[in-house]
Formats: sequence, structure tokens, C-alpha cells
Amino acid sequence: MKKSAITLAVAATVGLGTIFGGTPAKIEAESISKLKGEQNNIQEKRSDVKLDINQANDKISELQGQQADVKSDMKSIDFAIGDTTTKINEKTAKIEETKAEITKLQEETKIIKERIEKRNELLKDRARSYQETGGVVNYLDVLMGSTSFSDFIDRANAVATIMNADQDILKQHEADKKELESKQNQVEKDLSDLKIMLADLEKMNQQLNAQKAEKDKLLGTLIDQEAEEHEYMMDLKEQEQILASQEAAIQKAIKMEQEAQARAAAEAAAAAAKNNQANSGGGGGASTANPGVSSGYWTQPAVGRFSSGFGGRGDGNHYGVDIANSTQVPIVAAADGVVIKSYYSSSYGNCIFISHSINGQVYTTVYAHMSSRIAGSGDVVKKGQQIGVMGNTGASQGQHLHFELHKGPWTQDKSNAINPVGIVPMP
Ligand SMILES: [Zn+2]
Repeated sequence: MKKSAITLAVAATVGLGTIFGGTPAKIEAESISKLKGEQNNIQEKRSDVKLDINQANDKISELQGQQADVKSDMKSIDFAIGDTTTKINEKTAKIEETKAEITKLQEETKIIKERIEKRNELLKDRARSYQETGGVVNYLDVLMGSTSFSDFIDRANAVATIMNADQDILKQHEADKKELESKQNQVEKDLSDLKIMLADLEKMNQQLNAQKAEKDKLLGTLIDQEAEEHEYMMDLKEQEQILASQEAAIQKAIKMEQEAQARAAAEAAAAAAKNNQANSGGGGGASTANPGVSSGYWTQPAVGRFSSGFGGRGDGNHYGVDIANSTQVPIVAAADGVVIKSYYSSSYGNCIFISHSINGQVYTTVYAHMSSRIAGSGDVVKKGQQIGVMGNTGASQGQHLHFELHKGPWTQDKSNAINPVGIVPMP
């Protein structure tokens, strides 16, 4: 690296190093372009997430449209079920009516049969009594007893009339009986037709009910899918928020670097004016101006027992390390930086995300499960500055600090997570 007079002068500046590690101007110029690159990356990620959000929105609209279709289908099916149910009730009533009619016809037929039998008995009795009592003779007596021919004719006619009347009544009865029987046949045929229609209707109703159950199941699935999509959307929105905060933090870092550079340039000009007074050597000024550098950029985020390392741990990957303590110890910023996010998450509990810029490299640290948070979003924090208190909030079993280090911004898939051991001092 070529060291110009300006670089050396800048190295002597104090304010600059406090937040971003006190690096020479050349590196700071690079750091600004690195930060801008990081900002571009985040912007790209944000537009990806926005695209995902739009797609999720489309998907939700589509699912809602499908639900409306299914509901409209179900309404039609309901109407059809109502219609067939009405018809079933009508046919059932008609069947009852027909059965009653059959019973009535059977009774009428029975009565007619009895009448025919009685009439037959009567005729047989009469015939028998004619024979037994010499009916023919008596009959002849009747005829012979006539006083004149016309009387004879009258008597003969009377006898014939009586016999014919008997025959007529019998014929009439037989005709009635036949008519009733044919009526009964017709009604029985009607009944069997009605039963077939009823069975068809009941089958149709069963099919409709099965269709409705199927649609109901489909609707349930669509509702579940929509709920999932909403949940995914929430995740995306949280992601977008974090990205936006990170972008703002980087924007802030760029502004601070630029201000620091402007200050450095001004001081360099002043130093040049004074000329050969203060600086006879190179980096000596830098080291005395930045006592923090000797103890490193990083500090231990909490006092306690190192209870779990990075990676593995059965249930998916462990993207951080755990420091446990039975007392409520302070949690401190592991390096200088800007708080990206300070919020409560169902998994992380009370958590804080800090963006650090070290020689233009963005790092993100995460402090999770705290009992309380002291730093807020947008705060500029110093290495070792308290940001919260160790706790057991969110998805945590036992009081501990879950600490993550990401080389670059924090992402949903935690692809930038690295093992902090060897970088950040640990117990
Ligand atoms: Zn952990």
C-alpha cells in the first residue's frame, strides 16, 4: 500500500476510528465502495423479496378466487339438494297416498267379493229350495194357477224377471269386481313406478351430498393454503423490514465514513499548513490514537459459560453460539456499530441486530433471548456498550445469550452466519 502524506495525516485522526476501527483514509475510501456494494446487494435482495411478496399476494388472490368458485359450486349443490329433497318428500307423500288407495281398493274388492258370494249363496239356496220343495212344480203351479192367458204371461214374466234380475246383479258384481281389480293393478304399477323414482332421487341426493363433502374438503385445503401463504407473507415482510433496516444502517455508516473523511481531509490540510511539526514518522500516531485496536475490534458479548458451539445440534443447524449464566448479566455490543433492529420475535425473543463495518466489511451480530433490551433501532453503539440483559425469552430453554455473527447482512436462510469463535472473544 502506498502511503501519501494525506494517508499518514488521516491515520492520526481520532474520531474516525471510534466507530469504524480507525483505518487509514485509503482503506476508508475502499470501505465506502465496499459499503456501497453491500448496499447494492441489499437493494437487490429487497427487490427479490418484494417480488416474492407480490407473488405471494397473487397466490393469495388466486386462492381466494378458487375459494369463491368452490363456494359458488357448493351453493348450486345446496340448491340441487334442496330440490331433490323436496321431490323426495313429494314422492314419499305420493307413495303413502297410493298405498292408502290400494288398501281402500282392496277393501272395496273384498266387499264386492263378499256380495258376490252372498248372491251366489242366495241363488244356490233358491235353486235348492226349488228342487227340494218341488220348485218346478210350484213354479208350474204358479203358472197353472193363472186365471187367464194374460195372467199366465204376467206370471211367467214375473218369474223370468226375478231370475234375470238375479243374473243381472251377479253380472254387475262381477263387472265391478273386474274394474276394481284392474284399478288396483294400475295403482300398484303406479306405486312401483313411484318407488323407482324415489330410489333414483335418493341416489341423486346421495351423490350431491358426496359432491358437497368433496367441495367442503377442497375449501378446507384452500383455506389452509391461504393461511400458509399469509404466514409466508409475514415472514417476507419481516425479512423486508430487516433488509430495509440494514440498508438504512449501511447508509448511515456510509454517511459517517464520508464525514470522517471530510474531517480527515480538513485536518490533513491543517497539518500540511503546520508542516513538519507533529509528524515525523508513519503509523506511530495511529497506534497511540487508537488504543482500542490493540484489544481488537471485538469484545465478549456477555459473561458466562460457553454452553453451545456453532453448527450441528440435532434440530437443524445452530447458527450461533450460546453463553449461559444463572444471574442476569448485561449483554454488550460485540463491536462498534449501528442497531439495525431491536424487537421481540417469537423465536428469538427480545433480540437486537447490530450492523458493524470493519474495514469496509459489513458484519451483523444478533443477540437473542434477552430479558430486556436497552438499545433501540437506529442507535449508534460502542464496543462493550450495554444493549440489554441476559434472559430466557422466545424459543429458549434456560437463561442464555444466543449470539450470531454474520459476515455480511443477516439473511432469512442465515447463509452468511460464521463461527464467531476465533473472531469474537468468548468465555
Ligand atoms: Zn443458541
